[in-house]
Amino acid sequence: MREERKGMLIVISGPSGTGKGTICKKLLDDDPSLTFSVSVTTRGPRDGEIDGVHYFFLTEDKYDELLSQDAFLEHATVHGHRYGTLKFQVQEIMDQGKNVVLDIDPQGAKEVMRQRPDCVSIFILPPSYSELRVRLHTRNTDDPAEIERRLGNAKGEIDQMHLYQYAVVNDNLELAFNQVTSIITAEKQRTTRYFPVVE
Ligand code: ADP
Ligand code: 5GP
Repeated sequence: MREERKGMLIVISGPSGTGKGTICKKLLDDDPSLTFSVSVTTRGPRDGEIDGVHYFFLTEDKYDELLSQDAFLEHATVHGHRYGTLKFQVQEIMDQGKNVVLDIDPQGAKEVMRQRPDCVSIFILPPSYSELRVRLHTRNTDDPAEIERRLGNAKGEIDQMHLYQYAVVNDNLELAFNQVTSIITAEKQRTTRYFPVVE
């Protein structure tokens, strides 16, 4: 029995603090067929973040240069900083027959869904706005004003959930992770991506 697979593009999006990064990390640890697309950003690295692993940390000038070269599959200004997904990164991974995971904000997700309608789009929701506030505070990466800004954006982002193929509420992390895993497992078997050859 032979089989061939075409790589798929998985977009994980949702408001800040819903657990996208947490879920993506678990997915990548769990499934070797998945590769994370490392984005570029103009924000500075946080403690423990490594250039080329978590992000490519760029100057504003270098980011502008990439913009002028049309290097981005999508790009957006998110909470005051610029972020982008490099076209060549995504293509390189997919050319190897692997599945690419994007952890991007809803503006970028909309652009990817427009350009790549074959992508798998998953929207991660918080169980409530109050829990989202708690998570943003607990994560301890943003000051209170920034947290309020992110919470303010969350409502409008959640209103656009219908644009995505799948919605997952991240209340219990294990349950949310299992739901995302189930979606990916099923999507791998689509006949547009999976080609078993019966001999
Ligand atoms: P995002 O990437 O969407 O901004 P994170 O993955 O950074 O969100 O998660 C925000 C915070 O919430 C982190 O401190 C994370 O550990 C925590 N978190 C994630 N999922 C859950 C969950 N199901 N229950 C409680 N806390 C969670
Ligand atoms: P953080 O600065 O907390 O790592 O990320 C802030 C937000 O930017 C998150 O919602 C994250 O999903 C989003 N983000 C990260 N990389 C990209 C990207 O390449 N494109 C877009 N549009 N958003 C991104």
